[in-house]
Amino acid sequence: MKIAIIGSGYVGLVAGACFADSGVIVTCVDNDEKKLAKLEKGEVPFYEPGLSDIIKRNWPHPLNFSSNLAGSIQHCEVVFLAVGTPPNEDGSADLSHVLQAAIQVAQAATHDLILVLKSTVPVGTNELVTNFIQTHSKYKIDVVSNPEFLKEGDAVHDFFEPDRIVVGTEDDHAFEVLNRLYAPFNRRNNRIQRMDPKSAEVVKYASNALLAIKISFMNEIAGLCDKVDADVESVRLAVGSDERIGMKFLYPGLGFGGSCFPKDLRALSHIGSNMGATMGIVDAAIRANTVPVILLVQHIKRDIGIAGKKIAVWGIAFKPKTDDVREAQSIRLIEMLVKEGATIRATDPQALSTGADKLADLGIFKEVAFFDSEYDACKDADILIIATEWNHYQNPDLSRVRKLMRGNHIFDGRNCLNPQDVVDAGFIYRGIGRPQRKPK
Ligand code: NAD
Repeated sequence: MKIAIIGSGYVGLVAGACFADSGVIVTCVDNDEKKLAKLEKGEVPFYEPGLSDIIKRNWPHPLNFSSNLAGSIQHCEVVFLAVGTPPNEDGSADLSHVLQAAIQVAQAATHDLILVLKSTVPVGTNELVTNFIQTHSKYKIDVVSNPEFLKEGDAVHDFFEPDRIVVGTEDDHAFEVLNRLYAPFNRRNNRIQRMDPKSAEVVKYASNALLAIKISFMNEIAGLCDKVDADVESVRLAVGSDERIGMKFLYPGLGFGGSCFPKDLRALSHIGSNMGATMGIVDAAIRANTVPVILLVQHIKRDIGIAGKKIAVWGIAFKPKTDDVREAQSIRLIEMLVKEGATIRATDPQALSTGADKLADLGIFKEVAFFDSEYDACKDADILIIATEWNHYQNPDLSRVRKLMRGNHIFDGRNCLNPQDVVDAGFIYRGIGRPQRKPK
């Protein structure tokens, strides 16, 4: 089978590489020439564990890259759209990339084909695209909704072993073709769930919203623990032990970020208000997500003060195993600390360059120095904050950190350190929703 994927970002490139690895001939199309130039040199334009190896073993055949959309879709049975759907000012999803790419496909088509919407799109987009392209092609173009559930940092594994493959279509032929395409990822048991396109569109938003709601709920409980001197880590373990609740996505921290949860929740809220359906829980989760960083900044201010302080920040990426800093809480935190008069010494194993670009966009560059090593970032710092729980930040050489720093405050924004170890090394420890601990 021959397919094309329009949009070679985190989703499109992973999907393209994994389909190619299963023997399908894939062209990944993008209109960002810089990204393509990197890909054509054998470089992956972003960090995603395992992706580079799959691309290397499949490029230039059966996987190739192109900026020529019209040329790339010739002889393709299936064309995926995996372009971005960033938020508009009012929180709704910006569909301009989807609609533009759909029109380009319709105009360039020289045969019947299946157009698959992999981008996260509001309910009704399948219908909108179907109507939108109708007058632009004389061929039959079946629009199928096939939302993507991969997680950055585990994207390759998630694509090879999906929990479910949602296919939203009323058309039997389109369903059969996708069934065939996904067969290699669906061998152990049948993970394909067929439904109508609107339900498929709702599934994606509902899944992300429920995960984000769990995080926001635990962050609210952490806020309560903070007020009453309880330890949210004990609470988390006991609450999660209930099989009906489970341990996953119960970690309190600085809040969720990234390119999906924040924008998808805002889009869902917007869809709800447009349709007259109350999205009160979603709205509450969005509001609650702004609180943890504010609480942490308040604690730092009260415990030691911020103006004039040198603060080491470990982690800029919105979560470990990615270089993605879109809507990262670490960026919000750094922005607030700088506004309060701190200078920052930031480090991240993958997101130094994306983080530096993001902070420069926000007009913050003089106040932040960047370091490859987490230990170099600590030199002469008054305060250390863990903002992203990269594995190697979870068991650091604390006596080395203590010697390098001039202060002795550690704020653990991800509750990933052992407080007793931190205190034993001579630090004052504060986590999220955990009582402050000091050396005796
Ligand atoms: P991204 O910004 O990393 O990539 C999108 C790519 O599309 C960019 O490289 C851009 O240059 C390209 N593009 C835009 N318009 C184009 C056009 N007309 N022709 C060719 N290329 C074009 O985005 P992403 O993170 O891969 O997300 C893509 C979609 O998938 C979004 O709707 C997102 O919500 C959804 N999604 C993302 C994730 C994730 O973890 N990143 C997970 C599931 C779903």
